[in-house]
Amino acid sequence: MSSLEQARTDLPARPFIDYRDGQLMVEGVSAAELARAHGTPLFVYSQAVMLDALAAYQRGFAGRQALICYAMKANSTLAVLRTFVQAGCGLDIVSGGELERALRAGVEPAKVIFSGVGKTRAEMRLALEAGIGCFNVESLPELDVLSEVAADMGLRAPVSLRVNPDVDAKTHPYISTGLKGNKFGIAHTDALAAYRHAAALPGLKVTGIDCHIGSQITETSPYLDAMDRVLDLVDAIEAGGITLEHIDFGGGLGINYHGETPPAADALWQLLLAKLDARGYGQRKLVIEPGRSLIGNAGICLTEAVFLKPGEQKNFLIVDAAMNDLPRPAMYEAYHAIVPVQPREANGEIQSWDVVGPVCESGDWLGRDRQLAVQAGDLLAVCSAGAYCMSMSSNYNSRGRAAEVLVDGDQARLVRARESVEDQLRLESI
Ligand SMILES: *Cc1c(COP(=O)(O)O)cnc(C)c1O
Repeated sequence: MSSLEQARTDLPARPFIDYRDGQLMVEGVSAAELARAHGTPLFVYSQAVMLDALAAYQRGFAGRQALICYAMKANSTLAVLRTFVQAGCGLDIVSGGELERALRAGVEPAKVIFSGVGKTRAEMRLALEAGIGCFNVESLPELDVLSEVAADMGLRAPVSLRVNPDVDAKTHPYISTGLKGNKFGIAHTDALAAYRHAAALPGLKVTGIDCHIGSQITETSPYLDAMDRVLDLVDAIEAGGITLEHIDFGGGLGINYHGETPPAADALWQLLLAKLDARGYGQRKLVIEPGRSLIGNAGICLTEAVFLKPGEQKNFLIVDAAMNDLPRPAMYEAYHAIVPVQPREANGEIQSWDVVGPVCESGDWLGRDRQLAVQAGDLLAVCSAGAYCMSMSSNYNSRGRAAEVLVDGDQARLVRARESVEDQLRLESI
């Protein structure tokens, strides 16, 4: 196999992000040209990949009452939000900052869902003022405080309780959220009592039920199990006289980073809807909160090889992107495919490299034992970098955050300028 053919097999978002005439293209735009125009590291997103991923969910829900709330913590860049909002999505938020971003992106407040275990009173007030669609509440004290805040404003907060179905999502422990020993949600066994408590509070209006069992889920069975457990609860809650307008089934569907084969969103929902139908809930309003599966494979991060540092045990390829830009390898030992932007012809030069950044941490690596033919000055693309990269980035080592470009066909727009040192220093004083 030539190095070009090898690289092509590693690309997770073909045909939208693919080689043409030996050049990596994002839709109709050359990645090398973008790097020349805007510098590196540079995040580039394909709008076609985003809308294609969304379309799979939309197909899955055809003819149903469903609201797709993009979980914006995956990537909260305004232009990304706007793309999903214009395509009809609501947004799942987890902070007051995300609420502000969501509103600036033009979302209808009624299509905003507020998740998270630690909402402050101030955040609750902001969300109530904005008139969001629902608070996904995760504990009894949160119910009490939210009721108090809403009642003080003369309002009733729409709530759904996030229940913990205690199923194993079979994913990385840091991104599994639906098991007992987990900070998220209300234990399955306590859910009924929590619903009774919520229904009796003056500042709340119980509207739904919610669960979210984890992230990067690549199997169908945890979803089916969780659906059964949630519907058992819905049966019990409604038997107790509390009606639920909607069922929110969270997010968590995985993507292909390195040969994973998660179910397609429409195939998964075909199975879940069959279960809902069989149990008599097929016409209930549905909400979902997908993040990674909508944006993960739409993004790449372009980076330049700074130095080659061959060694006795390891060859290090030092690039200008780092753990502050792409924190997932350091955080979860995550795999991102790394491919050359212009693959070299000569196969003989392929060597094994640990691709690392310049940050002063041994954890600052982007890929290990990667087979690459590379020289200093070459451009590389870190794939599957749309989700939980830019939104998790930091200024560690006083590195400015990367710039971001959104591509639509043969048009490319800079949607976030590179952060300068001045930007970083602006809030400080001596
Ligand atoms: C993070 C999160 C999501 C999105 O998860 P993905 O794995 O990115 O789809 C949805 N709902 C809640 C409550 C979350 O915390």
